[in-house]
Amino acid sequence: MKFLGRIFRYLMWLIVTAGIAWVMKKAVDRASRTPSYGGPEPAHVPPTTAAKELFRDPVCGTYVAEDISYLYEHLYEQGKQTLHFCSRDCMEHYQRDLRDADVRANRLAAGA
Ligand SMILES: [Zn+2]
Repeated sequence: MKFLGRIFRYLMWLIVTAGIAWVMKKAVDRASRTPSYGGPEPAHVPPTTAAKELFRDPVCGTYVAEDISYLYEHLYEQGKQTLHFCSRDCMEHYQRDLRDADVRANRLAAGA
């Protein structure tokens, strides 16, 4: 029974130590969450950033924010669609593809 008693005492010590460690961790977490310079942590992040709408670049598939994208107004017979590109390269690539498609369509119409 002396052996069991030693195991029991060891377990008690383990639980107490873990408890103390947990309490200390909690205290450290709480201290780091309220920084001394004041104010909540994400105060420097403008709230509009999270809610900003992203548009998919139809060429490379990258998502771009409206204020940094290259805009291209695609005119259809039915109306127009505003496309957003991540770069000038992608926009020119898209315009080239459109022109090529037009050329192909014209060739088909001409029966060539
Ligand atoms: Zn792109």
